Amino acid sequence: MTHLRKPILVSPAGNLDKLRFAIRYGANAVYFGGEMFNLRAGSENLSIENIARGTEICTTANVDSIFLMNSFLHQSDIEKVKEYLSLIKDFNFSAILISDPGMMMIIRELGISTPIHLSTQMSTLNHYAINFWKDVGISRIVLAREVTLEEIRRIREHVDIELEVFVHGALCISYSGRCLLSRYFTGRDANLGQCTHPCRWKYSIVEENREGNHLDIIEYARGTEILSSKDLCLIRLLPEYARAGVDAFKIEGRMKSVYYTANTTRVYAHALSLLDKPEEFAAKLPFWQRELALISHRPYTENLFNEFEGMKGKKSIPTIRGARFFGYFVEKGRDETEIYMMVHNPFSLGDTVEAIYPIYNNCVRDKQYRVCDIAEGELIATSAIPNRIYRVRFDAPVYEYAIFRESTK
Ligand code: SF4
Repeated sequence: MTHLRKPILVSPAGNLDKLRFAIRYGANAVYFGGEMFNLRAGSENLSIENIARGTEICTTANVDSIFLMNSFLHQSDIEKVKEYLSLIKDFNFSAILISDPGMMMIIRELGISTPIHLSTQMSTLNHYAINFWKDVGISRIVLAREVTLEEIRRIREHVDIELEVFVHGALCISYSGRCLLSRYFTGRDANLGQCTHPCRWKYSIVEENREGNHLDIIEYARGTEILSSKDLCLIRLLPEYARAGVDAFKIEGRMKSVYYTANTTRVYAHALSLLDKPEEFAAKLPFWQRELALISHRPYTENLFNEFEGMKGKKSIPTIRGARFFGYFVEKGRDETEIYMMVHNPFSLGDTVEAIYPIYNNCVRDKQYRVCDIAEGELIATSAIPNRIYRVRFDAPVYEYAIFRESTK
């Protein structure tokens, strides 16, 4: 089937700040959950008031708002989910994302006509499944992360429905989170959004007669049940996925930082803007790859879709820290060199930091600054500590939505 639409970028919005930054850094759509029935129990999640506010911000910015109701429901959840949905039924979401067909039935039973997207959690892998979901009223399918590029091409020949794929972020070794490891080890259930990631812990085997003689578990593509995945990064292959007929590219990571949200969003948004300019795309690719290397991540792979190569390697793949994230713009100060800043990691007077900014018109405006003054309320300080808002003066004008990280020059 012909597929002509320009793909959009869907970014995570774990709280209202991340939502604002995702929008300003180039997301076409953001996804967020409330305090119940989404698969991120550990995320900050939005109160009813903030869901309303977030949806309003999206509408004003002409950005799609995708609300997550993607928990699997136990029978005992039914009345609670109805009560919860009745609180948000009049909000102007662009779509609601579900996993459990029962959730869809309840949404429609309550007279909510918002378009419904199907989560990757439903492991949709083929065009018969897609057309089944289309027939029952789903308008967009987030494909299983196990679907290969070639399979997407073949699927697209048989379906006329919006397809979304994950392009960046953490991967799950089981089929899209259908996994009991966390529940087994810690009592915290991945299917209820409480995963403690035991698939990434270090394991070894001990032969029963040789106590203390530990053998490390080595991963093979198809040989081990307990695996430790790398992180997905499909930036290089974006044009191919677009040509295969993908409508929406999704970034994983509602629980990650404002810096992660903003920088991954600006990189992928910039890349999407150059999809029809192959030479410029190729020229900018090293910059994007460098930026993605400057966020905390596990070694990247683009191969989970293709033969599961990403799972190969030793256990306990280390996380790569990336650039230190100091904090982000909250509001303007008394002149153009001063801002109020939410601090994430400590820094001191005289430090050199780097601000990153949204990329507009193919123009990167990142800049090095020296920290000249720090104040908390009326108190002058020599350093800033995390989770507080400071008034900070720099040696040059600072612009809205700056995000500060350690100097990379
Ligand atoms: S333990 Fe690993 S494989 Fe299982 S749900 Fe959590 S992240 Fe996914």
